[in-house]
Amino acid sequence: MPAIIYLKKGREEALARFHPWIFSGAIASAEGAPREGEVVEVRSAAGDFLALGHCQPGSIAVRILAFEPCRIDAAFWFDALQRAFRVRQALRLAGNPHTTAYRLVHGEGDFLPGLVIDIYGAVAVMQAHSAGMFLARKEIAAALQEIYGAALPCIYDKSAATVPFKAGLEAQDEYILKNTAMPGETVIRENGHSFIVNWEAGQKTGFFLDQRDNRQLLAQYAKGRNVLNLFCYTGGFSVYALRGGAAAVHSVDSSSAAMDVTLRNVGLNSAAAAPHQAFTADAFEFLRRSDGHAYDLMVIDPPAFAKHAGALKNALQAYRRLNAAAFSKIAPGGVVFTFSCSQVVDKTAFRNAIFSAAAISKRRVRILHQLTQPADHPVNIYHPEGEYLKGLVLLVE
Ligand code: SAH
Repeated sequence: MPAIIYLKKGREEALARFHPWIFSGAIASAEGAPREGEVVEVRSAAGDFLALGHCQPGSIAVRILAFEPCRIDAAFWFDALQRAFRVRQALRLAGNPHTTAYRLVHGEGDFLPGLVIDIYGAVAVMQAHSAGMFLARKEIAAALQEIYGAALPCIYDKSAATVPFKAGLEAQDEYILKNTAMPGETVIRENGHSFIVNWEAGQKTGFFLDQRDNRQLLAQYAKGRNVLNLFCYTGGFSVYALRGGAAAVHSVDSSSAAMDVTLRNVGLNSAAAAPHQAFTADAFEFLRRSDGHAYDLMVIDPPAFAKHAGALKNALQAYRRLNAAAFSKIAPGGVVFTFSCSQVVDKTAFRNAIFSAAAISKRRVRILHQLTQPADHPVNIYHPEGEYLKGLVLLVE
């Protein structure tokens, strides 16, 4: 029997609307001393069953797994992952030879709060953002094996940096399944382009799958343009720009490891004949020193400047400063692809920061496209916080 958590009177409302989190302030009492990461049953003040979820000390105290009584066992994980897999089949991602990398599980967006699973060809990389998902990792991996069979000989858990254990437990990155001599990196295909993904040493799970559709859009604008790709990581946008017929591409990132992979990725997609140059540098500095009007297509895809609400003000200032510099430098008629992946910066706040940046530059700026994350990063309608990626494509005259 799971431990039981009773909510305060009147605090079951969010659950009635299927919001997947219970904040610690809503909890009245607990019965059975739940341990960190354990599955708990949530009941109303009157004692009625409401949901089952993973508990965790902290402001989000329970992450909901089910709104009806059930067992969180092997069959539960199999069903949940099977549902996620079928969605990716419907999206023509699973089983597509032109795009072999996709997100299979996107946390709350797949009703599995705290869990991310990315598929890179024959490799699955799992990342737990909650203690409960970390403790369940072996069962989750077993369900993955059941679904994919021999097509998935390698499952890597990369939770060391993401599980916020309070109880002094530790997570270590490890192979849960390693049926082949996988060298820690693989080559995936995305819209027909090739990319090296190093899941052991790379950032996050190894690759930023969430920009897939936006990179494709960039390719349509690239022909004949001089492209600056700021915060390029492993060169995703750069490869699409080159393959899209750019006149020249400059890629900038502060990580030299990322720049090495960028160069290898450009090499892999050798139809990319235009000149490419890689700069290991601070993007703000690089932009400040660059010649005016040297570029007429820019990508600005920085890391999350605000990781929590407290950092919001500084983050908005950073977006403003960065984009104002880009608008000031870009050639007339230039196009800027600008992004924010900070969850706490919502669409309106980001748009306002870009508005201020445009006003500072005194350029005529128009929005051509409003971008977001792709369909394999779905947003649970009851959890609008899950819409984290915001992008604007701007025409700057
Ligand atoms: N556009 C990339 C993902 C960008 S992730 C893609 O499509 O794959 C953000 C990147 O910003 C990381 O690679 C990180 O190394 C880099 N970065 C962080 N701070 C930076 C800075 N001040 N200047 C340049 N790069 C920076």
